[in-house]
Formats: sequence, C-alpha cells, structure tokens
Amino acid sequence: MSSQPIDGEFQTPTTSEKILGPMQRISPEMQRFSDNELVDYCIVGVGAAGGVLSQRLAKSGFKVVGLEAGPFWDTERDWVSDERGSHELYWNDLRITGGTDPLSLGENNSGKGVGGGSVHWAAFAPRFHPSDFRVYTQDGVGADWPLSYEELKPYYELLEREIPVAGPAYFPWGDPHGYPYGPHPMGGVGDVLVKGCSNLGIRSCAGGPVAILSGSRGNRPHCIYRGFCIQGCKVGAKASTLITHVPEALEHGAEIRERSMAFRVSLDGRNRANGVFYYDREGREHFQRAKAVIVSGYAIETPRLLLNSACPGHEKGLANSSGTLGRYLMAQAGNVVLGRFEDLIRLYKAPPAHALSEEFYETDPKRGFARGFAIQTVGPLPIAFAKQMMAAKGAWGWGLRRVMMDYNHWATLGVLGEILPWPDNRVEVAEQKDQWGIPVAKVTFSLHDNDNKLIEFGKNKVEEVLWAAGATEVVQEKRYAHLVGAARMGSDPSSSVVDKFGRTHDVANLFVCDGSVMPTQGSANPGLTIQALAARTADYLISQGDQIFTSEKRDMTRPPVRTELSPAGTFVHGVPRLAHV
Ligand SMILES: Cc1cc2nc3c(=O)[nH]c(=O)nc-3n(C[C@H](O)[C@H](O)[C@H](O)COP(=O)(O)OP(=O)(O)OC[C@H]3O[C@@H](n4cnc5c(N)ncnc54)[C@H](O)[C@@H]3O)c2cc1C
Ligand code: SF4
Repeated sequence: MSSQPIDGEFQTPTTSEKILGPMQRISPEMQRFSDNELVDYCIVGVGAAGGVLSQRLAKSGFKVVGLEAGPFWDTERDWVSDERGSHELYWNDLRITGGTDPLSLGENNSGKGVGGGSVHWAAFAPRFHPSDFRVYTQDGVGADWPLSYEELKPYYELLEREIPVAGPAYFPWGDPHGYPYGPHPMGGVGDVLVKGCSNLGIRSCAGGPVAILSGSRGNRPHCIYRGFCIQGCKVGAKASTLITHVPEALEHGAEIRERSMAFRVSLDGRNRANGVFYYDREGREHFQRAKAVIVSGYAIETPRLLLNSACPGHEKGLANSSGTLGRYLMAQAGNVVLGRFEDLIRLYKAPPAHALSEEFYETDPKRGFARGFAIQTVGPLPIAFAKQMMAAKGAWGWGLRRVMMDYNHWATLGVLGEILPWPDNRVEVAEQKDQWGIPVAKVTFSLHDNDNKLIEFGKNKVEEVLWAAGATEVVQEKRYAHLVGAARMGSDPSSSVVDKFGRTHDVANLFVCDGSVMPTQGSANPGLTIQALAARTADYLISQGDQIFTSEKRDMTRPPVRTELSPAGTFVHGVPRLAHV
C-alpha cells in the first residue's frame, strides 16, 4: 500500500525553514550571537510577553537574545490535531503543589516553547476594567496598580490590532469599545450562553472578543472552526506570539535560542545584572553576557529563577528586599459548569472562546463579597470532558463510557472569578530538583472567605444560566484558570518587586515583564493585558536608551506610544470590520 496521502504530499521540511501555518514560513537563518558577545538585552522566556518585547526591542535596533526553555515550534511538523498529542505544549516539569486548595499544575496553567502560553491559550482577549487598577481604593481589598487603565488603554488598542482581536462593534462593559475584526459565528455552546443569559435578562456578548481571525489577513488564514485552539492552532488563525511577533523579531536581528533553560541571573560587583546562566539542550552550562536582563518566565518560573539567583547582598533571592517575591500569586476561579440538552450541541465545533458575559464583573455590595466574575464559553475536547465528568459526576467505567457517548449533548460554561491576592499564596523553591538539578518551585495556594463566597455565587449563577437555556441536567467541576502575580508591581519598594515599568526596585538593569507583575487579576483573561504591558515596557526601554545599561537613575517619565513598532500589516486597510475603531 502506498504511503502517499491521497491528495498531494505532506509538507515535510527539507530545509531548516520553519512552517508556521499554510502560508507562513520563516527561515531560522537568524542572527547568532556567541555567549561571549555582550548583547543589549537577554530576555528569559519567549512567551506572550517575551515575544512582544523581543520584536519591539529588535526593531528598535537593540541586540536581543531570547532564551527559551522549550522548542522553537515548526507547527507543521510538531503539532498534531489530536488532544493527547498536544500535551507537549505545556510546562510539565516537576513542581510541588500544596495549601488547603492546591493548584493543579501542568496543562491548566503554563506553556513551554516559543510563544509560551499564547500557543495553547483559548485566545479570549477582553481588556481589564478601569476598576481593576484601583481595587484597594475602590473596594478596600487586594491592591492598587501603580498605573491607571488610561495609561494602558493605548496599548490595549494597539495589541487588539496587532494580534488582532475579533469581537462586536460595541462591547458594553468596563470602558466600552469596539473591535477591529467582526465577531465570529456562534457555536452551540455560545448559543446556550446567549439563550440562558437572555432568558434571565443578563446581557451577553457573542462571537468574541477573541484573538482569532474572522477574516484572513496577510499570511494568516481565517478560522475554520475546527475547535483545536487549546491544542495549538495549526491553521494559524489563532494569534500566538510565535506567529504574530517572533517572525518580525528574527527579521530585525533578534536571536531566539530554543531549549535553553536559564537557571541564574548573574550580578557583577556593582549590583548590576551582567548576564544569565543557562543549560542548553544537551545539559551544557553557558553564560550569556548582556547589558540588561528581562525575566519573562511567567508567574511560577519567574519567581523561581529570581529566588534561585540569590547571591551575596541578595540572600533572600534577587529583587526580593521587600520579601514579596513569590507572594501574592493568583489563579482565577475557573469552575466549569456542564449542562445536558436534548438538542445536539457539539461543543467541539467552533473555538472554545466565543461568547461571554461581564455583567457580574464589578463589586455589588448586595452579594456579600468584593469583586466579581465573568461567564464564558468553554469547549472541552473528549479527554478534558471525560476528566470533568469524572470530577463532576463521579463517572467511571461503564458509567463514564455512557456519558462519553452522550458528549454531543453537553454544553460547558465557565466561571472566571477574581481570587484576591494573598501573601500566603506563594511560590518558594523546594528541596527537590528538576532534570537539570535546579531546585523546583513549591506552590502553596489556599482560598479565603471572600474567594469562597465569590466562587459559590458565580457557580450558582452559571447553573441558573444553563437551566434557563433549557438544560435537563446540570453538574459542575471546581477548578482554577490562569495564573498571575508573584513578582508584583508597585510604587513602594517595601511591598512590591518591580515599578510600573517592570524595573526591579533592587537592581537597576533587571526587569520583569510577564503575568507575574500583576497586583490583581480582575475577571478578564490575562493574555491581552500581559502583551499590552510588554509593549509599554518596550516603549519605556526604548525611550530610556543606553541609560538603562549604565545609570542607576530611575526616570519615571511616561514614554510615547510607538505605533510605528507594530508588526507589519497591523494597520492595513480592508480588514473585515464594519465599525469605528
Ligand atoms: C489551557 C489554557 C488556556 C488559556 N486561555 C487563555 C485565554 O483564552 N485568554 C487569555 O488571556 N489567557 C489564557 N491563558 C493564559 C495565558 O496563556 C497566559 O496568561 C500567558 O501566556 C502568560 O504570558 P507570559 O508571557 O506571562 O508567560 P508565557 O506565555 O507562559 O511565557 C513564558 C515563557 O517562558 C519560558 N520560560 C520559563 N522559565 C524559563 C527559564 N528558566 N528559562 C528559559 N525559558 C523559560 C516558558 O517556556 C514560556 O515559553 C490560558 C492558559 C491555559 C493554560
Ligand atoms: S477553531 Fe479556528 S482558531 Fe481554533 S484551532 Fe480551529 S482554525 Fe484555529
């Protein structure tokens, strides 16, 4: 029997070219710096934030090396449209978890490989609300951010065009706005969300906001609604920095060094970072010299690396004079509520992320707890669905088999709730070591009274929505979604790790730029905000120029918004948007 596919040949890479989608290819004949070469910026972690940073810094003429622990994906060769096969996308290395309500670590929280978590995110891309930046002042809980929504707004607008985001012409919550691409058609789960909400008088939003193309653009085709977003979109319709920002970073001379695991940021004798120690794929130790270091490893690996970088003068860990490094780790409440319907739902069709309601986002004193939650569509494929049914119904053996045969009749909606930042929810380093001999992260997580009340209310509300949509049975699984915090930003060096531009209070040329800098997390998925913050940090670094490499001075002047640094094609005309943005 011929091994040839019926219709043409598979695209097996014959050169070192990487295929990032049916129409996007890049040549990794990229700039190569030797370890001994003094580069301007060494960025640890090329994920959502690291991808945006490396693109902008390289485009502005800086010498940039990105160290990425995972592979540089060739999506045609490495990704499979198969739920089990996609597990390579996650950070599955050893981590220790504890606390009274421990986080489950692995596929539910962070990615590994160029693009990081943006490769396997569902791509829901709502903005944070203005209230998220002043939670303590407004509600007396959590913390205030050292910047306002208005300061970040131009970067939201920019990133919504760069990646770009599809959604309605008018999004009514927070700071109402419209989206550059029109909304997606609805899948069965979205229909359930809208129907249930409408029957209860709850406003909802259909077809976004989601960073998935609703019309083709440049070398990226539009979505074909095959539902494999969390498994890495082979089509290239879903945004990840692997396809939106990294190609341009390479074009402008950045080197992205794959399978390079950073294990210590090094200081010289003048309290300045001078490079990063890392292991290559064979486990050989290297030291990349750099004039400044940016850590972008996300909410667990960033504090882990800085804690493991303790040295004389910084015995509690680098950038930890406040003792807050590793603390105030947050995950969002992510209960999945499942409803059975007589009609076929087919929840695998359409992107999991395509409808939501933010009607309960803000604090309502009548509810008896601070802050709120969103309701969102979720689209588990069969393995995830089976796990949810085991947790929600105790389904097992023949019972589980019967439930699985009923898969097409179930709809799943998620609570996305704001768990507050607590000092005891934290990352420390454990005695156990990973495959490189580096001490692993120990993550402690417990829910507090406000969190429990919020989760109970949110779960009950989503159950109501499913009943109102006509469900005949409703069950739920308690879980978490997303991670942020553990290297939080603030104006006061005694209670935060970095300032509002991501510069560590303790070392003038050491920055943190990723989800770990967030002081609170709202009820919006964090990815868009993380990328907006990265674009803003890049603008700051570019404005400061060589001062970052030589001076201890902390100029807090707000940088201009550099729209000219957006990836090529960001502002092309003719995008299928009807509206005003
Ligand atoms: C299943 C799932 C679905 C999600 N869906 C959404 C969604 O719909 N919307 C949304 O907004 N968010 C979503 N998220 C969250 C989102 O993916 C993350 O918040 C986001 O990617 C974090 O960005 P980051 O830049 O902080 O870190 P990452 O994107 O995780 O990047 C960090 C990178 O650093 C690398 N790294 C870490 N340590 C080291 C080291 N020591 N040396 C070298 N490299 C290192 C990692 O390999 C990784 O590539 C989802 C997450 C999951 C797990
Ligand atoms: S549903 Fe769309 S965005 Fe998701 S994997 Fe398929 S083509 Fe990509």
